[in-house]
Amino acid sequence: MLKGHRTTARSFLIALLAAGSLAGPAEAAPPDRIVFPVVGPTRYTNDFGAPRGARRHQGIDIMAARRTPVVAAERGRVRIHRGSRSAGCMLYLYGVSGTTYLYIHLNDDLTMRDDNRAADCRFGVAFAASLRNNQIVDAGRLLGFVGNSGDARGIEPHLHFELHPNGRRAVSPYKWLLNGRKQLWTTRTEVAAARVGVHGTLTAVREHAVRLAVTMVGVNPGPRSYWRGRDVRIGYGDEMVVERRSKTGEVTVASLEEAVPGERVSIWTEVIEPTLASRLAAPRVLVATRILLLGKD
Ligand SMILES: [Zn+2]
Repeated sequence: MLKGHRTTARSFLIALLAAGSLAGPAEAAPPDRIVFPVVGPTRYTNDFGAPRGARRHQGIDIMAARRTPVVAAERGRVRIHRGSRSAGCMLYLYGVSGTTYLYIHLNDDLTMRDDNRAADCRFGVAFAASLRNNQIVDAGRLLGFVGNSGDARGIEPHLHFELHPNGRRAVSPYKWLLNGRKQLWTTRTEVAAARVGVHGTLTAVREHAVRLAVTMVGVNPGPRSYWRGRDVRIGYGDEMVVERRSKTGEVTVASLEEAVPGERVSIWTEVIEPTLASRLAAPRVLVATRILLLGKD
C-alpha cells in the first residue's frame, strides 16, 4: 500500500548510527515466535518485495482498523520518530535478539476520519500515552496505534511492519507473522487490572474450561475488538455464575450442564493483571466468573 519509502532505508541507517544498535548477539536470529505486532483482526499478504515505484516494498502491510493497538514483537528498546514525510509517525524497536523492527504509518488522526489533525505524532494518538523514547519494553507491550500517516494518507489504515535481522537489510516478516503469538486483547493505556468480556459460539465444556469461537472481545477499561472464529479456552471455578437469557430478554439462573455446543455465550473473567500470558489467553490464565448462555440464533 505504500507508494515508496525513498527515505526509509537511509533514515534507518541514520537512526542506527544515532542510537547505536542495542547490544544483541553478533549473529543472532529473530525469535522463532515474535508477538504479532497488531492486537485485533488483520489482513495481510506477503507483499514484501512488491514493486513500489522504483523501489521494492521493504515490509508487509498489515491491514487493520484505524487505532487498533500495535505492540512490541519482542523485548527491546524503542526509538520514536516523528513526521517523516514517507513513514509518518513511526518507531523502531531494537529487539534483544538483535533484530530491528520498524512500525510505520502510525495513527495521526484525532477522529475516525483521515483528518491528519495530529500530524505531530502525539502520545496517546500515534504512540502509547505512557511510552517514552529509549524505553525498554517487554514483548507484547502497547506501543501505539494503527493509522495511515505519511505517504499512506488517503489509503486504508495499516501497519507497515519491517523486520531487520541483526539490524541489517530487511527480510520478509511473513513467516514470523504467520507464526506470531496473537494477543486476544489489550488495553489502550497502562492499567494495573482489567476485566475481559469474551463473546462467541460455544464449542465445548470440559476439564473445567469453556471453549468458544470468539467473535468479540471487550476490555474494561479498554477497546473492543472483533474476531472471526478465534478459538479460546477459558477456565472456571465452582463459584462461576451461570445464567441464561431468553429470547424475550429474561435472565434466569442456569447450569453449565444445559449449555449446548453451537449456542452463543458471553463470558466475563475475574479482574486480572494485563500480563503477556493473560493477554495471549494462555491456557489456565483466564478464569471466568460469569457466563451467560444466549441460545442458538
Ligand atoms: Zn508498506
